Amino acid sequence: MSFSKKRIPKIIQELYNKYKDHDEGTLPTYIPELSRVDPKHFSIAVVTLDGDVFTAGEDAQTFTIQSMVKPFLYGITLEKLGPEAVLEKVGVEPTGDAFNTIKLLPKSNRPYNPMVNAGAIAISNLIPGNDYHDRIVIVKEALEQMAASPLGFDISVYTSEKTMGHHNRAMAYLMLKFGILTGNPEEILESYFQACSFLVTVKDLAVMAATLANKGTNPISQTQIIQPKNVKDIICVMMTCGMYDFAGEWAYTVGIPAKSGVSGGIFGVVPGRMGIAVYSPPLDESGTSIRGIKVFQEMAQMMDLSIF
Ligand code: GLN
Repeated sequence: MSFSKKRIPKIIQELYNKYKDHDEGTLPTYIPELSRVDPKHFSIAVVTLDGDVFTAGEDAQTFTIQSMVKPFLYGITLEKLGPEAVLEKVGVEPTGDAFNTIKLLPKSNRPYNPMVNAGAIAISNLIPGNDYHDRIVIVKEALEQMAASPLGFDISVYTSEKTMGHHNRAMAYLMLKFGILTGNPEEILESYFQACSFLVTVKDLAVMAATLANKGTNPISQTQIIQPKNVKDIICVMMTCGMYDFAGEWAYTVGIPAKSGVSGGIFGVVPGRMGIAVYSPPLDESGTSIRGIKVFQEMAQMMDLSIF
């Protein structure tokens, strides 16, 4: 590898300065609480596999993890049930549609993949536990191990999403009809909404990404958290489905497995090298952070990140 990590702080600071005043995009209104955040928030973090942490901008700013939790929910089920049991309920095909698409695979009626809402709701049903409380304890523990840090929870965003989440509710009941969901849909949605409301910083996300980049061993705590074969499945599905209907262009212009969330975060996994995260709330039509995309695209060029 010709790229020296000594260049990282300068590169991320340059990109921070370049996009600091960029204000394109809109905040999501379908979760009202998310439309109240300050659109100016902007931070970038890179964590290398040696455990070096580099940040630019307001790196202490927390935000809800939203869909960026989906790869980890998927990871929990792969670890606890194995890939065959998970595949029986959730596919691995990209949808070419938005994150909240109400469509299921022909014949099997499974959700297309674990990165769209339908898939993550079905995955939430698979996390072992008697009720949503048991499940959320498992999710919290897994996320904190991945981040090597305790994580807070945003009760306002959670309540806001739970109150307004009828689109996801519709999807859950459709999956109940097809026998994909087997429990009480309201309890399963509860687990899903709660999982989306954990609070992270860009550093937390970059550590989580670096853990995936490091075949499941957290570079900060040095603990093996996910088996390498399951990491392979997670980042493969992130590559093909993590950016929803933007996945093709993302692969073409950035070229690393990544996951976005409607809070404005994106994290990316550069296998064998580093984890990267950007936070900037204003989104494009696909629900992806606009400054996030720009920073990743330029970083990919400057640091030769593409896996292709
Ligand atoms: N909690 C959000 C939802 O279910 C997550 C969507 C996202 O971040 N893309 O709609």
